[in-house]
Amino acid sequence: MSLVAPRRPTRVLHVGNVKIGGDNPIVVQSMATADTRDPVATLRQIRELADAGCEIVRVAVPDRVAAAALPDIVPFSPVPIIADIHFEHTLALKALDAGIHGLRLNPGNIRKPEDVREVVTMAKERQTPIRIGVNFGSVAPMPADFVDEMAAQGATQEQLRAEWLVRSALGHIKILEDLDFGLTKVSLKAFEIPVLLEAYRRFAALPNDYPLHLGVTEAGTPKAGSVRSAVGIGTLLAMGIGDTIRVSLTTDPVEEVFVGYEILKSLELRQKGATMIACPTCGRVEVDLFTLAAQVDEYLRTVDEPIRVAVMGCEVNGPGEARDADIGLAAGRGKGMIFRKGKILRRVDEAEMLDALKAEINQVIEDRRNGVVDDSAERYQPKKPTLQLVSV
Ligand code: SF4
Repeated sequence: MSLVAPRRPTRVLHVGNVKIGGDNPIVVQSMATADTRDPVATLRQIRELADAGCEIVRVAVPDRVAAAALPDIVPFSPVPIIADIHFEHTLALKALDAGIHGLRLNPGNIRKPEDVREVVTMAKERQTPIRIGVNFGSVAPMPADFVDEMAAQGATQEQLRAEWLVRSALGHIKILEDLDFGLTKVSLKAFEIPVLLEAYRRFAALPNDYPLHLGVTEAGTPKAGSVRSAVGIGTLLAMGIGDTIRVSLTTDPVEEVFVGYEILKSLELRQKGATMIACPTCGRVEVDLFTLAAQVDEYLRTVDEPIRVAVMGCEVNGPGEARDADIGLAAGRGKGMIFRKGKILRRVDEAEMLDALKAEINQVIEDRRNGVVDDSAERYQPKKPTLQLVSV
C-alpha cells in the first residue's frame, strides 16, 4: 500500500495545452530569469527549460516594455507561458492581448475594482487561468483583531502565519468569485516549512477544488534550496496536496526543473528520464567513485528513458545492494563489473568503465524499444553466490 495519500480532488484548468488538476500529472514549472524585455534571450531560455522538461514557464512582466515584448515571445514558445504581473492592470490586458496562457496576478493588489473587472472579463473570454499567489513575505500586515482571534484559539506562531496566508488568498479568490471567474489556481508560499505545510493543509481542507501550485519561496542556493524544496513540496505531495510545482533556486532555472522531477520521481508520482542510484562509498572503495558518479550523472541528464542506473563502489556488495537497478557498475581497483538487475554481465578495465556503462545503458534502452524481454530480475538469486560471472 502506498503511503502517498490519494490526491486532493481538484478542477482541471488548461494553461495552453497543459492540463493542471484532476488526475493529470503534476506539472513541473519554472520561471525565466532572462529579461522579458529581451525576447531573443527570453525565448532562448524558455527553449532550454522546455528541453529540460519544463512544462510551463513563467515570465516577469514588470513594465510596459516587457509587456510589449510578449507578442515576440508567446507565439514562438514551445511551452505555455504565464505572465507574472503585480499592481498594474494594463500589463495584464497587454499580456492577454498577446495570447498569454496564464496570469499570475493577485486581484486585491489592483486598486480600482473596474480595472480588476476589465482584466477578469478578458481572461474569462479567453479562458485564461489566473494564479493567485500569496507569499508570506509580501502579504498585508496582520490586523490586530485577527491576531487576537487566533490567540484566543491558542494558535501557535506557525498556525497564525499559515492562517493569515490562507485568509489573504481567500480575499483574492472572493474578488474573482464575485466576478464569476473560476479558472483559478492558488499558491501559498513561505520560506518556513512548518508555515508552508500548515497553510496548504488548512487551504486543502476547505470546501473548494481549486488546483494548488506548490513552492517554497526564496528556497536558496542549489544545495540548501533543493533540500528545503524537497522537504516542503515533497511532504505536501505525500499528503496528496498539489497539482503543479516550482522549485525556486538561486541558480540557472534548468536546475529547478531537474530538482522538481527528482522530487516527483522520489514519490513515484512521475517518471522522467534516468534515475541514478549511487552508493555513498565506504572503506571498501578503491576508485575515485565521486568523479565517476558525477560523470555518469551528467550523462544521465541526456537520457530521456525512465531507467535506473547504479554506480557502486565495490564488487562485494555493489551488484546485490543495487539489484533493482536496470543497469549498474560496481567499480573496483583496475576492473569494474557491469551488472543488470544484479546479474553480472561482464568485467571491464577501469579506464573503460564509464564508456562501458554508457554502452550498456544504451543497450537496455534499445532492448526495450525492440521489445526484448529482460528476465534478469527473475534469474537473480540473492541467496546464491552474488558474483556469478556469466560472460567475461
Ligand atoms: S557498495 Fe561497496 S563501497 Fe559502496 S557503500 Fe556498499 S560496501 Fe561500501
